[in-house]
Amino acid sequence: MKISKTTTAKEKPADPAKYPWGSVFSDHMFIIDYKDGQGWHDPRIVPYGPISISPAAKCFHYGQELFEGMKAYNTADGGVAMFRPIENMKRINNSCVRMCMPQINEEEMVSAIAELVRLDKSWIPTATGTSLYIRPFMIATEAAVAAHPSHEYMFIVIMSPVAAYYPNGLAPVRIYVEHKDVRAVRGGTGEAKCGGNYAASMRAQAEAEKKGYAQVLWLDGVEQKYIEEVGAMNVWFVIDGKAITPALNGSILPGITRKSVAQVLKDWNIHVEERKISIEEVAAAYKAGKLQEVFGTGTAAVISPVGELKYDELVMNINDGKIGSISQRLYDEITGIQSGKVADRHGWVYRV
Ligand SMILES: *Cc1c(COP(=O)(O)O)cnc(C)c1O
Repeated sequence: MKISKTTTAKEKPADPAKYPWGSVFSDHMFIIDYKDGQGWHDPRIVPYGPISISPAAKCFHYGQELFEGMKAYNTADGGVAMFRPIENMKRINNSCVRMCMPQINEEEMVSAIAELVRLDKSWIPTATGTSLYIRPFMIATEAAVAAHPSHEYMFIVIMSPVAAYYPNGLAPVRIYVEHKDVRAVRGGTGEAKCGGNYAASMRAQAEAEKKGYAQVLWLDGVEQKYIEEVGAMNVWFVIDGKAITPALNGSILPGITRKSVAQVLKDWNIHVEERKISIEEVAAAYKAGKLQEVFGTGTAAVISPVGELKYDELVMNINDGKIGSISQRLYDEITGIQSGKVADRHGWVYRV
């Protein structure tokens, strides 16, 4: 791999909490090109900056694009780690299949990202809860306004030092149950991590924010009855001591945090159910006083407790708007494993 170091290192912001999440980038980025017949070639680390592609590049017109989200952390013993990075690479390859894009070599790309992280190690912030957010993405770059899979692609990795998602601690958020727009449908691209799913979600998100809610709760795209995700996170309900999350059905993104949470709950002998769960079931549990906790899971926030769910006229006040004990325990356990304060009993921590 060719490495061209920057000659004009940027000033590192002292406190990532002082600027909008994900808006400042480190000194370098990784790029590799693809062309049919030639395969992936020319891997390189170059100074972070604009890239030049044709305005006819297919990613602009047909949305042939996918991405990932992962983090590098400073660990308690002075090292640097990533959390289950091979899972992100596997998910890229699953997204590639759905989006007709060329698969990557999972191990080689983890190594390339590790190389990039080592080079920009000084960009990893040090305060508790902070990290270097890593954004790999793939775009179709062939110049042709013709709706066929591109013959050329770029895979790029950029990195942004970020604060804890909730700088004031785990603050429960208000959620609006959306039943006009849907995020994804079975058979569509819901289980691929692609920009198109986000484009489809922005209107409902913007309208919920106008009404004073942080995110929307997505219902399924066919019957608008079963719960799928919360915002851009997987969602969990604690009902009568059992932890329930919607089963992966093709329109739900298979989160790595979701998978890790399921494992940790099982380690703790908390009963886990992955199955269909309807909004009516949640409302009935609430009315019966059995809805104990609701939380979202994803790399950015790790655990995001829900304090209120607004479903038509019903306002469900969850755990008096306070963080539930399971939510708090999960947050402490997973961030503890990531930072090396809790034993890595499942081999999830990848030393950079
Ligand atoms: C990325 C993402 C998630 C969470 O996945 P993690 O691997 O846990 O970060 C959940 N839902 C959507 C729609 C996503 O894009």
